[in-house]
Order: sequence, then C-alpha cells, then structure tokens
Amino acid sequence: MEKERKERIEVWQGDITKLRVDAIVNAANTSLLGGGGVDGAIHRAAGRELLEECRRLGGCPTGEARITHGYKLPAEWVIHTVGPVWSGGEGDEDVLLASCYRNSLALAEKHQIKTIAFPCISTGVYGFPAERACQIAIREVKSFLDAHATAEKVTFVCFLESDAGLYRRALGGLPE
Ligand code: ADP
Repeated sequence: MEKERKERIEVWQGDITKLRVDAIVNAANTSLLGGGGVDGAIHRAAGRELLEECRRLGGCPTGEARITHGYKLPAEWVIHTVGPVWSGGEGDEDVLLASCYRNSLALAEKHQIKTIAFPCISTGVYGFPAERACQIAIREVKSFLDAHATAEKVTFVCFLESDAGLYRRALGGLPE
C-alpha cells in the first residue's frame, strides 16, 4: 500500500555525501565542474570520475537538472541542479528554485529512484533566504509525492542546525 506522504519526507542534519540513498542532489553551478560548499564536498567524495562525466555534459542552465553516477559515493546517482543566485527576489528566483526541485524529482522518477536527498539549494553562497527556500522546497516535494508513487523517501539534508529547525517546524509535528 502506498505510504502516507508524511512518512515519505524526513529531515536529517549532516553531510549529504555520507547518505546511502539512491540519489543525492547537488547544488551545482552552471559549469557543472565543481565549486565550493556542498558541490565541492560531493566532488571530493565521489572522485575524479564524477568530474569527467560532468565535463561531458557541457553545463546546465539555472533551474534545470542533470544526472550522473555517484562513483565513490554511497549514493548510486547524483542529480546536479543549478539554483538561482539571490538578487533581491525580483529576478524569478522563486520560480527557478521551484524548477530545481521539480526537474530533479522528474529525473529521479525517470530513473526509478526510490530514495532521494536534497541539500538546501541556493541558501549558501547563492544567498537565497533560508526560510523562503524551505517553503518552496517543501511545497514542491509535497506536490510531487502526491502525484507520484515511485519515490518512497525524500530526505531534506540540513547541514546547519538552523536549517534543520526550519524544516522541522515547517513540516510540523516532527520532533526538533
Ligand atoms: P549554493 O551555491 O546553491 O548556495 P552552497 O553549497 O553554498 O550552494 O550551499 C547550499 C547549502 O548546502 C547550504 O545550506 C550549506 O549549508 C549546505 N551544505 C554545505 N556543505 C554541505 C554538505 N556536505 N552536505 C549537505 N549540505 C551542505
């Protein structure tokens, strides 16, 4: 029987590269050639083969997503998505961030991925306000789960304690 939506969403605080899930999502940049933050951590943990596969993809526009293997990561797949750089909210940042979640989940569905973990896309160096990003992330994941049965578990990975608190409060009923 299909699991209830609430059981299919979890919040986990820590390093996304440690997670043994089908796919982790990378908050990449348009070059897909690695960077700082979570992107750097994923490339370091996956090894050089990830960079080689990324090179062959030829970049990714903001709001879209691309999939690669996970190589040395415990996760089988990496879904690379490019979040918007926050510029005050007047430049379609909300729509682009929502697209990141939607396009990543669509790729997951296409590859029959059952467990997927997201970092807090755009809320680091790209400066998207954390609370606003959290609301968008949760809205998109919930509406995806309501429409698709393949995904069994979506994990919001919060590197920062403050983000974990935001997600737990926003999801309601989950212990802090
Ligand atoms: P962006 O450029 O999209 O803002 P960042 O990597 O700078 O990407 O930050 C995105 C989020 O990833 C931030 O919330 C940051 O705290 C978090 N983060 C950084 N390193 C890791 C990691 N190893 N695992 C999970 N999240 C991480």
